[in-house]
Amino acid sequence: MRLTKFTDLGLRAVMRLAVTEQAEPLTTREVAEAMDVPYAHMAKAVTRLQHLGVLEARRGRGGGLELTGLGRQASVGWLVRELEGVEEVVACDGDPPCPLRGACRLRGALRQAQEVFYATLDPLTVADLVTPPTGPVLVGLVGHRPE
Ligand code: SF4
Repeated sequence: MRLTKFTDLGLRAVMRLAVTEQAEPLTTREVAEAMDVPYAHMAKAVTRLQHLGVLEARRGRGGGLELTGLGRQASVGWLVRELEGVEEVVACDGDPPCPLRGACRLRGALRQAQEVFYATLDPLTVADLVTPPTGPVLVGLVGHRPE
């Protein structure tokens, strides 16, 4: 199973913000630069994370992005499900749709496998993801993408 780039960017943003001091919030641009990804792509992920209540933007002088309490304690499995949406791992109903789609054992097995994948991530929280060695590396990331 492969995550979309969108989900990966969302997870990267959340991890970076999880190690940010409250007194020095980062902007979306700074998060994008730290992760070396285009600003526009990161902005879309950040907007979705705001809608999920995982992070919020503080406006004005000294403003920036902040992880909410929900974001810090969020289950990684829940977050990945929300960012990925309801897509199956195979596009059975694509264009053209697969002729087996109404009676396919493989489809059922793949749905089960997908659920096991998410269930493995369920017990992990965002806070768990930034314990050493990941957290210290995240703190040290400095952006260099001039966009
Ligand atoms: S064979 Fe089964 S799993 Fe594969 S596309 Fe067709 S319906 Fe889906």
